[in-house]
Amino acid sequence: MSGDTSFLDQVNRSFDLAAALTDHPPHLLAKIRACDSVYRMAFPIRRDDGTVEVVHAWRAEHSHHRLPTKGGIRYATVVNEDEVVALAALMTYKCALMDVPFGGAKGGVRIDRKKYSEGELERITRRYAYELYRKNFLGPALDVPAPDFGTGAKEMAWIADTYIQLSTGDLNGLGCVTGKPVAQGGIRGRAEATGRGVYFGVREACAVAEDLKPLGLPEGLAGKRVVVQGLGNVGYHAANFLAGGGAVIVGLAESEGAIHAPDGLDLAAVVAHRRATGRITGFPGATDLAHTTLALELDCDILVPAALENQITAANAPRVKAKIVAEGANGPTTAEADAILRQRGVMVIPDIYLNAGGVTVSYFEWVKNLDHLRFGRMEKRFEEGAYRRLLQAVEGATGKRFTAAEMATATQGADEEALVGSGLEETMVQAWHEVRTTRNKHRDRADFRLAAMVNALDKIVHSYEDLGIFP
Ligand code: GLU
Repeated sequence: MSGDTSFLDQVNRSFDLAAALTDHPPHLLAKIRACDSVYRMAFPIRRDDGTVEVVHAWRAEHSHHRLPTKGGIRYATVVNEDEVVALAALMTYKCALMDVPFGGAKGGVRIDRKKYSEGELERITRRYAYELYRKNFLGPALDVPAPDFGTGAKEMAWIADTYIQLSTGDLNGLGCVTGKPVAQGGIRGRAEATGRGVYFGVREACAVAEDLKPLGLPEGLAGKRVVVQGLGNVGYHAANFLAGGGAVIVGLAESEGAIHAPDGLDLAAVVAHRRATGRITGFPGATDLAHTTLALELDCDILVPAALENQITAANAPRVKAKIVAEGANGPTTAEADAILRQRGVMVIPDIYLNAGGVTVSYFEWVKNLDHLRFGRMEKRFEEGAYRRLLQAVEGATGKRFTAAEMATATQGADEEALVGSGLEETMVQAWHEVRTTRNKHRDRADFRLAAMVNALDKIVHSYEDLGIFP
């Protein structure tokens, strides 16, 4: 929380600002804004030492305008109902904005996962999945969780297995959760999807010269100085793809500390150093910052908060030096901080757009599970044959001979990984240009966050239009 404003109040504040730019009926807007259902649970778990502990957990389904609902599960000590509902609301807007056909949901289990053995985590996860199942909060047609802060593929595999044991005969059981290991019905490219989406979004934003000019920045990603907060699944992959795209990583922050190197950091070497020493600090050639949050104030072009919510606040927003804040996390900028950044002319690429790569590829995984077929399996060799015949026809007509290497590259058919990458890129690029169009339409009143929210609202309203219940 920031000051006395809850996270949910902040999400609702940006909803209200966006709603005021539309002329949708107030009662329909009120329906969209409200959270449809919240399940709060407490269940006992046996620790390895034989003692019993009570675990508190939640699942919020913010909007059933499309089913299933979709959103991650987070394991953290700070989890509470307000946070889970706020994050579920963000999922509703994110899915709508990206044309991912789900309602929004989010789950949270209030634990410090570092304090539990693997066996204990498995018992907690399976019991949580059981609780969700028995209240109809889990299922491929109902509510489909995914990883979030503090969870990953292993937890998703436990959830899928629990669901399949309980739902005898559900042919689509694997589609009850996404972000699974590839061998358990997962999809190639899901783990890095959010970070890769952050890269596509930043690249797209930086490709528009007229948007970068007011920031005093040249177009393009090459040479842009980037600071990333959080080296988890989102931050690590975002940093890696941004560096691959020509950006220079000048600062990195984790919970234990932060480092700065104006000439650039070698991400792989930093990760190896952290694995060896347990800390990001003390990296040869870099300066340690006195406090991890000071990374948010480093001199850079692009700041990527990719950890938790409420990191850029009214207190530090006036000192943020980045020209672009690229929100990899959900809700990293408080509403007050957002207003300060806007007034200071900082471009904010909003969370509901920028971190949507994860749920976009989750959608592909769910479709794969319902299809019972790996993307590319039917067409890869057919495409390769067609391309080869085409090149052979060119050879016949021109007398030119392609080398074996040229032939191999040009005839490559698309496999699952390539198709997931292509679908993700298309989704991120398309949605950014839709956001820009709306922002340009309301130029005097809307920034990119409000424009993204307006697009999300328009798309949700559109999904209700034919029902005739909201005249
Ligand atoms: N937890 C991720 C998010 O906040 C992914 C959700 C999903 O894939 O369902 O967007």
